[in-house]
Amino acid sequence: MSNAPAFNSRHFTCPHCQQLADQAWLSCYGQPVTNPEGLPLRIAGEGLKQLASNPAMPPEVREQKVAYWNRVNAGEVFLERWAPVQTSLFIAGMEASVCLACHGVAVWLGGECIYPRSG
Ligand SMILES: [Zn+2]
Repeated sequence: MSNAPAFNSRHFTCPHCQQLADQAWLSCYGQPVTNPEGLPLRIAGEGLKQLASNPAMPPEVREQKVAYWNRVNAGEVFLERWAPVQTSLFIAGMEASVCLACHGVAVWLGGECIYPRSG
């Protein structure tokens, strides 16, 4: 019997930590982007350098934010606590699974795991 990641399973070999582990499934909802540009927010390059040396923030907050943007900019998908939102926009056909061993997130479209990319 294969323990490959599967849409119809709550227990499979995690594509992140490679352990046979329980998985929690998440439905995905959408919150419209509300910043003035109407575009997804990314802080990289010069903006990230400025953030990293912003004297208005305590060093541990700066480090946390820089680490966050480094992960986002590297294309990583992960869970992050954010301000609560209320939305009725359900993203049909998209789900995420979370490994209970390593908290790694896998993204599924149409029942196929598209992240992390294998091989
Ligand atoms: Zn894992």
